[in-house]
Amino acid sequence: MSNLTRADWDQRAQQLKVEGRAFIDGEYTAAVSGATFECISPVDGRHLANVASCDAEDAQRAVVSARAAFEAGAWSRLAPAKRKAVMIRFADLLMDNAEELALLETLDMGKPISDSLNIDVPGAANALRWSGEAIDKIYDEVAATPHDQLGLVTREAVGVVGAIVPWNFPLMMACWKLGPALSTGNSVILKPSEKSPLTAIRVAQLAIEAGIPKGVLNVLPGYGHTVGKALALHMDIDTVVFTGSSKIAKQLMIYAGESNMKRVWLEAGGKSPNIVFADAADLQAAAESAASAIAFNQGEVCTAGSRLLVERSIKDKFLPLVVEALKGWKPGNPLDPDTTVGALVDTQQMNTVLSYIKAGHDGGANLVTGGKRILEETGGTYVEPTIFDGVDNAMRIAQEEIFGPVLSVITFDSAEEAIRIANDTPYGLAAAVWTADISKAHLTAKALRAGSVWVNQYDGGDMTAPFGGFKQSGNGRDKSLHAFDKYTELKATWIKL
Ligand code: NAD
Repeated sequence: MSNLTRADWDQRAQQLKVEGRAFIDGEYTAAVSGATFECISPVDGRHLANVASCDAEDAQRAVVSARAAFEAGAWSRLAPAKRKAVMIRFADLLMDNAEELALLETLDMGKPISDSLNIDVPGAANALRWSGEAIDKIYDEVAATPHDQLGLVTREAVGVVGAIVPWNFPLMMACWKLGPALSTGNSVILKPSEKSPLTAIRVAQLAIEAGIPKGVLNVLPGYGHTVGKALALHMDIDTVVFTGSSKIAKQLMIYAGESNMKRVWLEAGGKSPNIVFADAADLQAAAESAASAIAFNQGEVCTAGSRLLVERSIKDKFLPLVVEALKGWKPGNPLDPDTTVGALVDTQQMNTVLSYIKAGHDGGANLVTGGKRILEETGGTYVEPTIFDGVDNAMRIAQEEIFGPVLSVITFDSAEEAIRIANDTPYGLAAAVWTADISKAHLTAKALRAGSVWVNQYDGGDMTAPFGGFKQSGNGRDKSLHAFDKYTELKATWIKL
């Protein structure tokens, strides 16, 4: 916990030195073209930096550096125990610089400083540390061969990894990739979102300080359709790991097919159902959880509980509890340590959210609370947490990922109907079920087509369990030892004895 006050953070924000250049071959550098884009804070519209707008030539430079580093072996062939030590140092450096990183994250994408400091930075450091700690404890296999053969089944680093990440948890999503990618010995080219590039740029320097050799981690800020596309089409990138929308995820699969058939691992969007049965043991806890599931991180969460499925017999009792709980989630200046909801990432995202609120009205849903832009005078992009009741699962606000604090309340009459509605979505990232009946909990959890299912809670999880989606929420998994599969190739070596 930090003792810094709003005034302290404001002062630090004034004094903050922001690096906007790309990081290639161990050095900060402008884009080859010299192009930059403006990084504007959603907190109050202030200009934060001119950031290098990388493109295909920068991607080429980074790939050459990353490949050379991989081939040289100073990192890729380093003993796992030594790589572990460096990864742990890297994690420690994130924590040593936690206040600066948290401030960059909050100014860049608008989330509350308390979340940046207590959730994002420690979560990112933990991903590096956990993966690093694991790497000298993983064993390969010896196959069940005939007597005169020795069959070795080994995992090898894939080589050069392109990591393309989104803006909602910029540092944490990056480190969910960097942890296992670097620990397994790969070189990485990280492309942060153009909406939130600052912590990724800063972290590159910390990697060098930790002892990661130059060229092993490169960071290329820029737009998706320029440098992102160039990486995805590059013939000498072995794997692209991605977190972002399902639309771009599908595009990356096409790029892979059009280029070198690079492996593509996708963590995409969600429209997660949060099912509350009438026999839930603690409706108050369920209501508070439903509120945080849609308001935390301004609703800009891939696993946001954006569809609240409530059994009809308790709807009139339950919904007021959710409305009351949501009053604790009021947007305010994210640099105030007491703020729980900050600004949406930018004007474009705010307008998208407001257009979905209009679609809710137009589609015939009933606005219960919220629905408006607020704090406009600050120059920031703030929207009230919003609830629509009377939502039909076929409505746009129930089918499409809004990525903002807009909750759709849908009623059901039976477990079968709840499961049918819950699964009636292109997505399959997460789901939750609230019931005191253990059989109903298990049967519902089994029937839900989602990569994570929570029972009597929302958003549980840590580095020990895999995280990712079914259906159009993606493939592959971040976190846990399962994530290492994405960064390694499986090799069978047959030795004639
Ligand atoms: P996005 O798909 O618009 O962008 C993600 C990244 O892809 C950005 O870095 C962007 O610049 C890049 N990109 C865009 N077009 C590209 C192209 N043609 N080629 C290569 N790269 C390109 O997503 P976003 O708006 O940044 O993030 C929000 C999305 O991320 C939501 O759908 C959310 O659910 C999802 N998300 C998923 C998870 C998960 O673990 N499943 C976690 C966080 C966010």
